Amino acid sequence: MEREELAQLTRELRRRVEQSHESEWGVAAAVLPAPIKAPSSGASKEAKLEALAVRIRACRQCSLGSTRLNAVPGVGSADARVMFIGEGPGFDEDHKGEPFVGKSGQLLDKILESIGLSRQTVYIANVVKCHPMKDPADPEARGNDRPPEPPELAACRPFLDEQIGVIAPEIIVTLGAVAAKALLGDGISITRIRGQWREYTPAGGAPVKLLPTFHPAALLRDPNLKKDVWTDMKNLKKELEPK
Ligand code: SF4
Repeated sequence: MEREELAQLTRELRRRVEQSHESEWGVAAAVLPAPIKAPSSGASKEAKLEALAVRIRACRQCSLGSTRLNAVPGVGSADARVMFIGEGPGFDEDHKGEPFVGKSGQLLDKILESIGLSRQTVYIANVVKCHPMKDPADPEARGNDRPPEPPELAACRPFLDEQIGVIAPEIIVTLGAVAAKALLGDGISITRIRGQWREYTPAGGAPVKLLPTFHPAALLRDPNLKKDVWTDMKNLKKELEPK
């Protein structure tokens, strides 16, 4: 094609685009993401959590958003008295979109059951909602997990704070060092503060009692830690009993 012909075609195309209405462009409405509606202030806790989950699933605030298979907002009761907070989704959670569904999750279910709680009566979430991977190009590889980096934790914190604000639990139980450090400060040592009552104040919210304990994955690696977690769970149960 001659240069002049090409220039003419380009001019014609530009003219048509400029004179057209956007409805003629053939961009199907379905291709565009639906606008995310904020729930009204009178919405139920369930509706607020679901609206939050929709925002989390659409989130790309940090690099984890572009490599995850599924975002993992959380699971459980919107009226939970206790929130269990872990580190972040792993392989199984990334594939299912639900927190604590692998071997650690099965152990967490047993721990909950031992004090009369369940996945349905508590709320389970993580400090980051997308899978941190050593090799983000290979989400199908097992053993590809890594702890979240500080910028990822910072980017995701508003979602966790909003979840805490909506649910308004009486108690937060952090599972493992990463979650405890994220909520209590980097300087803490999980082995030193495990089992000690602390407090966490979410942005714009009221202080909530916090009990740090070990992550179920740590118990799978070292069964000797089970007795400490059992002590913590007995304390949690006592705290939940009517005074
Ligand atoms: S980890 Fe959190 S901040 Fe990062 S993309 Fe996922 S939802 Fe968004």
